[in-house]
Amino acid sequence: MAHNAPKHRLNENWWKGYVFAIALVCLAAFLRFWPLNILEFRVPWVTFYPAVMVAALLGGFASGLLATILSCLIIFYLWPLFVLQPFIRVFADWLGMAVFFVNCSMISAIAEAMRRARIKAMIAKEEADEANKAKSIFLANMSHELRTPLNAILGFARLSRNAPGAETPLQSNMDIIIHSGEQLLHLINNILDISKIESGRTQLDERVTDIRFLLEETHSLMSVRAIEKGITCSLSLGDELPQFVIVDSAKFRQVLLNLIGNAIKFTAKGTVAIRAVLVQDDATARHRLKCEVEDTGIGIHPLDKGTIFTPFTQAAQHDVIEAGTGLGLAICKEYVELMGGHIGFRSDEGQGSFFYFDVPVSVASDQPESTRPQQERIMGIAGQDELLKILIVEDEPTNRLLLHSVLEPLHVQLRDAVNGGEGVSIATEWMPDLIFMDIRMPVMNGKDAARAIRRTEGTGHRPIIALTAHALEEEIRDIRAAGCDDVVSKPYHENDIYAMLRKHLNVRFVIEHTAQKNSLMELSADHFRKIPESLVDELSEAAVLLDSDLCSAVVNRISTFDAEAGERLHDAVLNLRYKHILETIESVRTTRQQ
Ligand code: ADP
Repeated sequence: MAHNAPKHRLNENWWKGYVFAIALVCLAAFLRFWPLNILEFRVPWVTFYPAVMVAALLGGFASGLLATILSCLIIFYLWPLFVLQPFIRVFADWLGMAVFFVNCSMISAIAEAMRRARIKAMIAKEEADEANKAKSIFLANMSHELRTPLNAILGFARLSRNAPGAETPLQSNMDIIIHSGEQLLHLINNILDISKIESGRTQLDERVTDIRFLLEETHSLMSVRAIEKGITCSLSLGDELPQFVIVDSAKFRQVLLNLIGNAIKFTAKGTVAIRAVLVQDDATARHRLKCEVEDTGIGIHPLDKGTIFTPFTQAAQHDVIEAGTGLGLAICKEYVELMGGHIGFRSDEGQGSFFYFDVPVSVASDQPESTRPQQERIMGIAGQDELLKILIVEDEPTNRLLLHSVLEPLHVQLRDAVNGGEGVSIATEWMPDLIFMDIRMPVMNGKDAARAIRRTEGTGHRPIIALTAHALEEEIRDIRAAGCDDVVSKPYHENDIYAMLRKHLNVRFVIEHTAQKNSLMELSADHFRKIPESLVDELSEAAVLLDSDLCSAVVNRISTFDAEAGERLHDAVLNLRYKHILETIESVRTTRQQ
């Protein structure tokens, strides 16, 4: 057991305390002969007191007592032998020795109490470290179990969405699956995030970010949930807010998503207003990005105000509205503070809540490498004389199938192994150009298989790419140490797989650039200027019901008021862009209310 370790170590060293006691008392006696011999018979205990104290501090009660007894014996027996004059002559000398004995015993007892407290603290620390390690292992295992099936769901949904000839309704259904899967992934990541924060392994990753796009995209994503609940979700961006800033976009987005998510969750009717502005800090001349999320929801009870930023706490003063982990705000606070900012809130029960945070940013003039999803499809490998041989070692049939779907369009030779042992024999006999290796498998795991392949391979080094749902760095280090060249985390994107081929096999891909769907007509609040409010309401109801016939009927009536608006709305209904219609209606309502 872990908590035995410090006790054990201290017990092992028991004799050292006695050796120290003897050595210290000898030193104290020696000092009495020289240079303190000029004291003659005065204060006999002067050097023995510190000797006993140090012995007690180092070895506890037993060492202190041994030093005390030895000091008394030296003074009583040895002193007269050397100086031919006894120290103890009159009653007062006996009294002095008794006081010395009592004092030294008390010092030794106090030192022993301190030593025990020290041992207790060490045991507590080792227990805490052990518990932390157990928690990390548990989290890694749990994340694996959850991420593996999620990997298959997200991967197939993305493939189906991007499949050539996929119809628009199928694509939007797939979008829903992808969004929900990503949300689930977000929840799992939340749990991993907080454990990373707690162990001090979270780092800042600042890069050029299209902040306007990020805010608009986040708003649009969250508006769907708001509309479903029948509440308004508005976004207002300050005119001075630039297009690009340098910020840790992932953490910024996570904070924003969480605050908006909470605002929608805890608001039954009314509005959620999101505002973002850029302000200049007069003192430092640095820019700060200020964001506010205000809702008209249930508010926060005064008793809960002190704890909502604490991990795993949910307000106790009102009924649970929706499942949550109680981690969101704790992560927000840690992230905002890591970015150098502040987060806070004002709220009164039943009066809604107002959450705000600001982070320092630098304004950037250049465009980030990729902020918008690339509209390109990989069609094959360029200049391939001989087909590449790729081995997939994976026990889960769905995950094998997913890798097949990602790799087959490249026209490569694929072979499967269902466990590490089979992987090693196929790798030795078939000599693939690259191996994708799952880590957790029956019979032989991926790490052992990678080690075995490295042992058997001759001069040619074959890249082994580990596929793992383990997000913890320790595990990744282990995987690399076992002989894997790279690690791809599950759930992965097909681009992660292509990136591995590019990196380790130096291949060039044949890329088909699919044009952005600019043909879709965009709607704006302006197009609704001439439309009566009652018709807008009817259209909104039809769009919420996703009823295309009803929508078309309302749009026909709208066309009589504004032909252009009618044409754009027809286009939106035909392309099933209900979300876009509803969002535009929301902004129409917001502008009409102002
Ligand atoms: P959870 O994942 O459970 O929502 P959070 O850390 O995000 O956890 O929030 C903690 C608690 O703070 C919530 O359970 C809720 O009680 C309260 N809270 C957060 N935001 C709001 C809000 N906008 N309105 C009312 N209560 C809120």
